[in-house]
Amino acid sequence: MKISHIKLYPLAIPLIEPIKMSGETITHANTLLVYLKTNTGKEAWGETSAAPLMTGETLGGLLQNAKYLGEHLKGLDIPELNSISIALGKILYGNTSVKSCFEMALIDLIAQEQETSVWQILRTLAKNKTQTQPSPLPLLRMLGGSLDKEIAEAARYRAQGYRHWKIKVGILPLTEDLERVSILCNLLDGDTISADANGAFKLQDAITFCSAEQTRKLSFVEQAISTQSSLNDFSVLKSKSLLPIALDESIHGVSEIVFFDQANALDGASLKLIKTGGLLSGLEAAYELKRRNLKLNLACKVAETSLSAAATASLGFAIDSIPWGFSMSNQYLEFDICPKPLHAENGYLNIEQLNPIGIGVVPEINLITQAHSKEYSPVLC
Ligand SMILES: [Mg+2]
Repeated sequence: MKISHIKLYPLAIPLIEPIKMSGETITHANTLLVYLKTNTGKEAWGETSAAPLMTGETLGGLLQNAKYLGEHLKGLDIPELNSISIALGKILYGNTSVKSCFEMALIDLIAQEQETSVWQILRTLAKNKTQTQPSPLPLLRMLGGSLDKEIAEAARYRAQGYRHWKIKVGILPLTEDLERVSILCNLLDGDTISADANGAFKLQDAITFCSAEQTRKLSFVEQAISTQSSLNDFSVLKSKSLLPIALDESIHGVSEIVFFDQANALDGASLKLIKTGGLLSGLEAAYELKRRNLKLNLACKVAETSLSAAATASLGFAIDSIPWGFSMSNQYLEFDICPKPLHAENGYLNIEQLNPIGIGVVPEINLITQAHSKEYSPVLC
């Protein structure tokens, strides 16, 4: 089976409302789709998103590198599952996001050929035979906007079954963040609640935040200090924090997990396919966390479509245990590119939504057309 046709679609999908983080405000999902077709007529899709502050990749950069990778892949045989990384690495060094995009589509093609689903392939790789049916994945809901809005949304989504939360911090003065977190924690008492600073705190403020009475009910604090902080600062923070410390922007795969764990600088990590370079290396990273007794949050970049959500969820269904929740970000989009978007049921994603052969969802070209980026045009490789 050879790759006969490759097309790239750079998209900018508006969010229902802007999402404000300490380093940026996101109004659109700047995301790239790859469409692959084989000489046997099979079709598959992959997705990756721009994340200048996480992977250093912009939509224009992703498009250029995907074009380069696509031009070199065209006409080649579909690699075996365990050779995908080598095949992509022979063409392009680094560029985890672009490789994740192609890997997603290639694994979808392999799953179609085997008449199985992507999550089943990954679950077999993970040798997960503890139970025949994977557990539903607990979905994490982000809170944002004014405190009144956060309180209203917390109540609304909790009534819908959500029990995992993320509060973005580091934008307001520290005293205001402490107050909001305290109010929201009391409202959501008993749930898994996290605060994500996206690296905004200075070390002393991070220590204050992580040891304050007001944050005592948080389950973990994510990327409190900048990726550019010294390793010693990360270790000091963890040693002085009363709360578990999660790293996100600082962790891209197994080597960083080992690096920070050896310095006793984390209690867990957030994994995203754009950082790990795809599902297979994501699976390795998830197992490295498990081996080291560290906790896992599985996440899509804010925001990605049902396609990336399906791939990331497949990883979750392969490993079964996501104590810090799954951040499925298509819920923040004004519209999805899949006619049957993945959705929460009582705050969980159930396996039934991903049971079809392949990755589980298929984008529709009319919806993709509505989502085209105004800056970049589709590219045929
Ligand atoms: Mg984060």
